[in-house]
Amino acid sequence: MRDVAFHLPFFYGSISRFEADEFLRLGGMTDGLFLLRVCLRNLGGYVLSLVFDQKTYHYSIERQLNGTYAIAGGKPHCGPEELCEYYSKDADGLCFALRKPCLRPAGVEPKPGVYDNIRENMLREYARQTWNLEGDALEQAIISQAPQLQKLIATMAHEKMGWYHGIITRDEAERRLYSGAQPDGKFLLRQRQESGTYALSLLYGKTAYHYRIELDKSGKFSIPEGSKFDTLWQLVEYLKIKSDGVIFILREACTNPNQPADLVRPPSLPRNRQEAASLTCNPDGYTPDPIEGRRMLPMDTESYVSPYSDPEELKEKKLYLKRECLLIDEVELGSGNFGSVKKGVYKMRKKQIDVAIKILKNDNENSLKEELMKEASFMQKLDNPYIVRMIGVCHAEHLMLVMEMAAAGPLNKFLSGRKEQITIETIVELLHQVSMGMKYLEQNNFVHRDLAARNVLLVNQHYAKISDFGLSKAIGANDSYYKARTAGKWPVKWYAPECINYRKFSSKADVWSFGVTMWEALTFGQKPYKKMKGPEVVSFIEQGGRLDRPSDCPDEMHELMQECWTYNSKHIGGALSHNKTIIPNILLKPQRSF
Ligand code: AMP
Repeated sequence: MRDVAFHLPFFYGSISRFEADEFLRLGGMTDGLFLLRVCLRNLGGYVLSLVFDQKTYHYSIERQLNGTYAIAGGKPHCGPEELCEYYSKDADGLCFALRKPCLRPAGVEPKPGVYDNIRENMLREYARQTWNLEGDALEQAIISQAPQLQKLIATMAHEKMGWYHGIITRDEAERRLYSGAQPDGKFLLRQRQESGTYALSLLYGKTAYHYRIELDKSGKFSIPEGSKFDTLWQLVEYLKIKSDGVIFILREACTNPNQPADLVRPPSLPRNRQEAASLTCNPDGYTPDPIEGRRMLPMDTESYVSPYSDPEELKEKKLYLKRECLLIDEVELGSGNFGSVKKGVYKMRKKQIDVAIKILKNDNENSLKEELMKEASFMQKLDNPYIVRMIGVCHAEHLMLVMEMAAAGPLNKFLSGRKEQITIETIVELLHQVSMGMKYLEQNNFVHRDLAARNVLLVNQHYAKISDFGLSKAIGANDSYYKARTAGKWPVKWYAPECINYRKFSSKADVWSFGVTMWEALTFGQKPYKKMKGPEVVSFIEQGGRLDRPSDCPDEMHELMQECWTYNSKHIGGALSHNKTIIPNILLKPQRSF
């Protein structure tokens, strides 16, 4: 049973993004050069890989429930061929119209996927057992029932894979992983006894990690916070290329003694970091991660550099964005008294980027409007990899602040309940990034005034950005602090004593808040001074009280935290300046070895 696109000379089958890039490079990288390949995440979907301005762009084409095919936000078409024909006449939202098919070189056939190799046999086996048929009748049944059976069969295909171990306990999974060689990335998938849900067990640094696999209402599988997949085998295939929330990419299948040998191909990894990092703009949301032998670093992600770092994009940069360039999703990322924050996509000149959109719910409230515009004008001045960048403001059905997306959400929520999965080294790395963002603010004479774990957003588990500049201020050229005229609705538990006592805010006061943020992170998202009310905290601090040492907190981190809470009543702001490198090198070592 061939793919409906099999006959197209520019269809490459189940190749990876890197292989697609390689074929396009060999094809000459002319504007509008394109190829079609199978989507590794959605059943029946494709990816259109297209060249523009010496870069490749990858658009996922989804097969809709009614059997049509469409690029997100685009028109539906009855097949992938018709879709390509349509976009060859009109770019209609793509970075360029499809001009020249990148033909498969002589002798290259569309690459079969893992599942393609077993689909035929599974269908046959299923039809035989279900209807008790043989011979011609069986062949007829397969042909007539195949479309209906495809999905069912695909969702069972993991059972045929060597890495699938059926129902076994966590202890048994560890026993199997630890038997024989123990390379990083050795993995297996198992069904959990209690709930019937699935779990992925993975070795890294000779330690076994276990990840629960969630199944959402629409039937998609995912590692918590990770990408969603129609089937378990697609999830495994994807994690072989991209770690996507797990500690290490899947490398070597721990084979089930009761299964045939692993049918899954070895992962196709980029050859070097430049290769991976060059794959930046990803309209299909598939960001480069698969760095051989180490996990993703902030500089490997799209949002490390400003979306306006390209001079051509910069030319078009304006504070007010055109509404037609902004697609707003229904997905709500968060909310506050101003309104809600929604997910969206902003179409730039040459690329599309994922954005978070702060939407003012009541435009008649001038004070809220003013606050949002103040936040916007403050954010407009900032450009640092460890700070959420503002893209612009859009004044349409509501007043909206459009920002870079930090998809993994607030640090406190991310860490809460993840003690088993996140290492102290990872937390230290994230805190170090926060300190770099804060240092940038200090060097530019800005005070944040609301640094807390809730306002540190994660792009992924290894990349943090500071957000929420609603209270931030610029400090005058001759001043070392900002003095608030009146006390307001303040996050007192994060504030240094001089903020409360004298309404004075300096970078040193931000250091105090950084210490509290450290404490929140190292307690995996606990609330500071839990049982105390604001005024009680103030007198507790005045009497020399401080937050307790988090359990398992390394000595250096505890000392540092306490230094952040130095109270020198003779000076404004007793806390230390964070100009010094605040993270002890000893703790950075394990990450540097990646
Ligand atoms: P805020 O009022 O700025 O604290 O935003 C409220 C919530 O919206 C945050 O706690 C996040 O969950 C979400 N949010 C805000 N900005 C972003 C962003 N840039 N990327 C992802 N989520 C965001």
